[in-house]
Amino acid sequence: MSHEDNSPNDSGTATERRNFIEQIIDADIEHGKNDGRVHTRFPPEPNGYLHIGHAKSICLNFGLKEQFGGKCNLRFDDTNPSKEETEYVESIQNDVRWLGFEWDNLLFASDYFAQLHDWAVQLIKSGDAYVCDLTADEMREYRGKPGVPGKNSPHRERTVEENVELFAKMKAGEFPDGAKTLRAKIDMESPNLNMRDPVLYRIMRAHHHRTGDKWCIYPMYDYTHGQSDSMEGITHSICTLEFEDHRPLYDWFITKLGIHHPQQIEFARLNLTYTVMSKRKLLQLVNEGHVTGWDDPRMLTISGLRRRGYTPESLRNFCKQIGVAKFNSTIDMVVLENNLRSDLNKIANRVMAVLRPLKVVIENFPEGEVQELDAINNPEDESAGTRKIPFSRELYIEQSDFMEDAPKKFFRLAPGREVRLRYAYFLKCNEVIKDDDGNVVELRCTYDPETKGGKAPDGRKVKGTIHWVSAEHAVSAEVRLYDHLFATPDPNDVEDGKTWLDNMNPNSLEVLADCKLERSLADAEMGNRYQFERTGYFCLDSQDSKPDALVFNRAVSLRDTWAKISKKS
Ligand code: ATP
Ligand code: MG
Repeated sequence: MSHEDNSPNDSGTATERRNFIEQIIDADIEHGKNDGRVHTRFPPEPNGYLHIGHAKSICLNFGLKEQFGGKCNLRFDDTNPSKEETEYVESIQNDVRWLGFEWDNLLFASDYFAQLHDWAVQLIKSGDAYVCDLTADEMREYRGKPGVPGKNSPHRERTVEENVELFAKMKAGEFPDGAKTLRAKIDMESPNLNMRDPVLYRIMRAHHHRTGDKWCIYPMYDYTHGQSDSMEGITHSICTLEFEDHRPLYDWFITKLGIHHPQQIEFARLNLTYTVMSKRKLLQLVNEGHVTGWDDPRMLTISGLRRRGYTPESLRNFCKQIGVAKFNSTIDMVVLENNLRSDLNKIANRVMAVLRPLKVVIENFPEGEVQELDAINNPEDESAGTRKIPFSRELYIEQSDFMEDAPKKFFRLAPGREVRLRYAYFLKCNEVIKDDDGNVVELRCTYDPETKGGKAPDGRKVKGTIHWVSAEHAVSAEVRLYDHLFATPDPNDVEDGKTWLDNMNPNSLEVLADCKLERSLADAEMGNRYQFERTGYFCLDSQDSKPDALVFNRAVSLRDTWAKISKKS
């Protein structure tokens, strides 16, 4: 795991370490390149929902805009109608905005189809493109392999006139799908396979989400992408490392066409442990029902993370922390989770919630009496104030906070032992009530009225403090606990005969149907996050929670010693 220490910083002063992209832009500005303009773009293909990897690219591109006072476009690279949908276009815009960014222009590569077509004709006329009749299989055969040169297509030497005519017929729908392609005439012996006469256009009768049935030929991604950048006046076209080998082709098209030349810069994509990151695999998880949807809180999509309880700040801070580098690495999921913890630690109000309830009856507390005790909402934020929590004769505590045959080091409740109730009193367990099967169903206890606020006047000490909820005032709720969707750090590392799906974690979701929450959570607001003391950070589930049937998601567990101790028992 490597964490780059060259993350961009808001203030952008010259003294701090600049990442390699910032350094390139600094130098460009110094040399007056592009008249000192900085214009980036985020170019998703609308064939799925955005994931945390895209967040890295978004933060980078929009971050450079902010840092250099430039511009950033949102452009949909929608050249493959068979996989693209309007639903994705909408979700992507929603996700970019939620992350806290606003684009200068909203654009679609499909708006450039006419210009791209005219440029293709220009390339035919300059002798740089030709119509080819090879089938996909033949083309693969002719292409050769790394280290093995390819062969020229038998159609490579068609005349310009013939090519112009054939391309017009392709466009007019006179040939069946796949019958012909338009190819660039570059070099079938190039060591770079991308330069071996790549395809510019294919015939494909598919309904496009924006252009409908207007076109039956569609431009390839490599032919579209750079020219789209150029048309938009993009100065720095930032993409992931897989495109390094495509850069010569990016440059070739733009040079041949003699148009504005953006600089392509590649950076390492984000990889995270315990997840898959490609849209194709995420789509498969959705389609095959391994998750409930793109926004399943276990998914590392932006919409899944949002529903889970992640904040935009935590994702932006994460991207800042991991930085930008030229070498691929895998980031530990803990880094992402820690960014959420540190954000929620500052903003989330503390509440008490019992996830696996065990009834406690305080025999020396008067029946019908309710004491309203003061509780601090957020020790990290004084302005969050205090609230009243009701204390009464019957409480719920966490099952894991009681042990019948407790070892000496168990600092919570056990027969004959005393524990501190958070914000309340010392509590002593006198009797254990069991059902016919021997399960502990209730504890008979006494409290010490002298210990209000958690201190004993006689100086006697208790080691443990546990949370609790007044039974009479408790709000019932379903709580969903999530774990990694995959059981192995690298789900793509599979044994013979297995697939990445076999690496899924069968215990990634635990549903607790009847949790008992403190009274104040009856007014829990959608979009707020809460720290359930000792158990983690939670929020209402945006899809399934109803005012009379609350559903909470655990965004992330706590990482303090309490959490560790309760795990051990
Ligand atoms: P996937 O492989 O998940 O399908 P993609 O690269 O095909 O992703 P696009 O919609 O084409 O998805 O990507 C839009 C932008 O996001 C591109 O500039 C791409 O380089 C960037 N991007 C995609 N995945 C990552 C990642 N894991 N880390 C950083 N940037 C990414
Ligand atoms: Mg893609």
